Amino acid sequence: MHALTCPICNGLSGYANRECPFCGTPVGVHLPSRSLVVASEDGIEIEGRRWVRCSNRHSTGCNWMTPAELDDDILGLGSRCFAGSLVRGRPDADDTIALEKLRPASLDLRLLVYQLVDLGLPVEPYWRTDGGLAFDLLSSQTLGHPVTIGHANGVITIDLAETQDAYRERLRVNLGEPYRTMLGHFRHEVGHYYQHILVETGDGADRYLDTCRELFGDERAGYADAIERHYKFGAQADWRKSYISEYATMHPWEDFAECFAHYLHITGTIDTARESGLMLRADQVRFSMDRDLVPLESYADQPIERLLYDWKWLSTMFNRVNAAMGRRPLYPFDIPRPVVRKLGFVHKVIRESASRNTTGGLLIGPAPGR
Ligand SMILES: [Zn+2]
Ligand SMILES: [Zn+2]
Repeated sequence: MHALTCPICNGLSGYANRECPFCGTPVGVHLPSRSLVVASEDGIEIEGRRWVRCSNRHSTGCNWMTPAELDDDILGLGSRCFAGSLVRGRPDADDTIALEKLRPASLDLRLLVYQLVDLGLPVEPYWRTDGGLAFDLLSSQTLGHPVTIGHANGVITIDLAETQDAYRERLRVNLGEPYRTMLGHFRHEVGHYYQHILVETGDGADRYLDTCRELFGDERAGYADAIERHYKFGAQADWRKSYISEYATMHPWEDFAECFAHYLHITGTIDTARESGLMLRADQVRFSMDRDLVPLESYADQPIERLLYDWKWLSTMFNRVNAAMGRRPLYPFDIPRPVVRKLGFVHKVIRESASRNTTGGLLIGPAPGR
């Protein structure tokens, strides 16, 4: 993830900040340039377009900017930012307990959308295209019935109850998972969406579907049977030899979504390290390393092996840092050879999609003629 800096003093800002922590300037995220701009009440003129603060500024603490002309009259969305406009379902206005949880979940959603746009993936909203991306952010606790986290035809459903550490941690332990976060849920579910639009349908089917089935298995296998089998018998004993997680063994769709999520974990974390100038120098580390490790600005033209080589060293270091704080590893996973190939496939699909997607995923305005 990028290091966002204050446009006035260049101080480092957190992703959720609405003010520079150093000079107090009101700041907002301008998505097309992936940077912070001054977020005054009247908005700011950028390349001939006026950008104003997102109307979710108070309700969810949003710090994104949005083009001023995208008001109620055009889309019926209010002057919500692009990430906010993807939220189709949210708790009722009087459900204050659930609304409180919307705030942290919305931040994770913005982190997701930022990264998708930054990778150049198409982010086509549901309000413009049938089957486009939408998020239903609901709470099982206040609705009083289960909210199944999942994806169907572009719509991603998230259970806001999982923003609570105690609730999520109990599930994590019960399910025997080494890692469970809200951002991880978003990254996994959006993986289902991209498998559907980039691999299984349209041009992608000719281009990728055979290889996808060879690597991940045939996605036409019965999904309901797969769930039942998984929760009854669990994964085969030697799953670690060919899967990134136990959950990935359940069905070819889950294997793809897990690998997609890991690709976002890995590239997002490497990028964060690089933006801080982090590198590992072979003549300075106290263990043997065959060369300096300098994270690249882009791995687009690199083979997956290069990305994963860098990640091996960086994640080892981050895991040791966490151990020094008495915490579980940052990245509690091993990547066996078959998963290298699966991640290589995800890398290829994302890079090729980005190079075809000349708008850079920034389809922010209404469709032409609307
Ligand atoms: Zn500042
Ligand atoms: Zn917003």
